[in-house]
Amino acid sequence: MQPLQLELRDRLRLRKPHPCGGYDWEVVRLGADIGLRCETCGRRVLLPRSEVERRVKQKLPPLSQTDSNAEV
Ligand SMILES: [Zn+2]
Repeated sequence: MQPLQLELRDRLRLRKPHPCGGYDWEVVRLGADIGLRCETCGRRVLLPRSEVERRVKQKLPPLSQTDSNAEV
């Protein structure tokens, strides 16, 4: 079990969707609690790191403005 390496602006996909239907989140705050912003509705939440580690399904590649044709 590898520790989750988090940095600001990392993008995460969680196992369960937000009520808005979005799965993808951006890390906006690091600390004892991790701040995440829903990429779909823009809402922010604070979760304990242990909770984030449980919920994360995968890390997503960073969004790049020059790379708009990411494969799905
Ligand atoms: Zn949302």
